[in-house]
Amino acid sequence: MNVAVFPGSFDPLTNGHVDIVERSLFLFDRVVVGVLANPSKTPLFSPDERVALIEAQFKRNKRVKAQAFDGLLVSFAKKIGAKTIIRGLRAISDYDYETQMALTNRKLAPKLETVFLVAREENSYISSTVVKQVAKYGGDVSGFVPKVVEKALRNVFER
Ligand code: ADP
Repeated sequence: MNVAVFPGSFDPLTNGHVDIVERSLFLFDRVVVGVLANPSKTPLFSPDERVALIEAQFKRNKRVKAQAFDGLLVSFAKKIGAKTIIRGLRAISDYDYETQMALTNRKLAPKLETVFLVAREENSYISSTVVKQVAKYGGDVSGFVPKVVEKALRNVFER
C-alpha cells in the first residue's frame, strides 16, 4: 500500500489543505494528515482538536486519517510506513523554506521522497493565520474553511 504523510500545523484546517488531501488521493492509497503538536507559535486549537476537525471533515473517506505527532517528521513517516511527504506550494515565497525542509529530510531519510502539489489558484491566498484573524474580528470565513471548522472557530471566538 502506498501511504503518504501530509504534515503541517493545520491550526485550523482550511479549504487549501482539504484540496491538497483530495488531490493526493489520486496519487496515493492512503493519506495520513500529520498534525505537528509542537509548533513554535502558540496554537489556537490543541493538537487533539485539530486532529478531530480533520477526522470530522474526512469521516466518509477511510483512506484519510489524521494523527498528531511531535519530533522529527522522518521518524513519524517511518513509524506509519509512509514513503512520501506531501507539501502544498502556494507562492514562490513558500519555495525557499520548502526546499530547505525537503533537502534536510532527504539527508535524514534518503528514501523518503517529498512531493509538492501546487495550490489551486482560488486557494493560493488562504492561510490558517489569516483565517484566524478574520474569525477573531467576526468576519465571514465560510469561503476559506470547511463548515466544521467554521463552527469550531465561532465557538472559540464567541466564548
Ligand atoms: P506549516 O506550519 O507546516 O506550514 P500549515 O498548516 O500552514 O503548516 O500548512 C501545511 C501544508 O499545507 C503546507 O505544505 C502548506 O504549504 C500547505 N498549505 C497551506 N495552505 C494552503 C493552501 N491555501 N493551499 C494549498 N496548500 C496549502
